[in-house]
Amino acid sequence: MNNWKKRGLAIAATLSVVAVALAAGISSLDSPLPVKPAEMALGAALGAELPPAHPPQGLSFSTLKTSESNGTFEALIVGGGSWLRYRHPAHTAVLVKHPQATFLFDTGLGRRVGEQFAANSWINQQLFAYRPATPAADQMDKAGWPLDTVRMIVPSHMHWDHVSGLADFPQAEVWASTEEREHAQHGTAPGFLPSQFAGVQRWHDLRLTHGPYMGYPASLDMFGDGSAVLVSLGGHTAGQVGMFLNLPSGQRYFFTGDVTWTIEGLQKPADRSWLLRHVVHLDHDEAANQSSIVHIHQIMQRYPTLKVVPAHDENVQKTLPQFPQFQG
Ligand SMILES: [Zn+2]
Repeated sequence: MNNWKKRGLAIAATLSVVAVALAAGISSLDSPLPVKPAEMALGAALGAELPPAHPPQGLSFSTLKTSESNGTFEALIVGGGSWLRYRHPAHTAVLVKHPQATFLFDTGLGRRVGEQFAANSWINQQLFAYRPATPAADQMDKAGWPLDTVRMIVPSHMHWDHVSGLADFPQAEVWASTEEREHAQHGTAPGFLPSQFAGVQRWHDLRLTHGPYMGYPASLDMFGDGSAVLVSLGGHTAGQVGMFLNLPSGQRYFFTGDVTWTIEGLQKPADRSWLLRHVVHLDHDEAANQSSIVHIHQIMQRYPTLKVVPAHDENVQKTLPQFPQFQG
């Protein structure tokens, strides 16, 4: 081996050692979240049984994967994640068919996402890059579903990757709390892209006017039958909401928005990585979001049959019904 090659190998070996040390150092900042006394009390107050639900026959749901992120190391998107695994967070819409109304929980990326996304700076366009989109509206058109069957859209929150498709369903009522709308209206790229919701014709003021549910102080039972129940998961944004969906089969789901991006975050429990949280401003109120992580972790421990679905977890998404298939 000549000197030039030896020197090249030595440099490569040194760089690898430095990279591994850096990765290990960064990962050591990502220990699991502690469970504080207040959260412990909340967890202890969870009932032995899941709350009652009377879902009507005919209630079912499906998921429409509209795109996925170009991807990054798992260790960046969840504290304690692997540097060897590459993840491609999914941008998904959830379509719920209830006898009283069909609605979407989140829209994923919509038909106009290209022009919407162009409002981002070059660096943010790289950071949040996504693969070519197949918007929910296109998938529904192809399957012969008139778009005006979607009566309401309930965004988990108003970040760009959850409300990009609002304009594709102009007749739908958009359910959002005053806090969330105000946060979004004062928000800026990359989180919020005002062009996505400036044209909404029908807002519905989302208020959690019903009683405590699963340890959350307030809830909204959308149809009065306990089948679709919204709770506040504020923290990531001011007014993020989660949705419990209780099916006629007895299977129960909890859609948790962007409290974490992966199911591992809720299992550990762990936030997004320390590194990412210090490079990008991710949460409106990080402490509140972390309390949400811990509470959902406790719910999962208490009710192991409940299926929890973080909005972007591409592995969990693969286990859900894929449009045009539905599960009831
Ligand atoms: Zn998101």
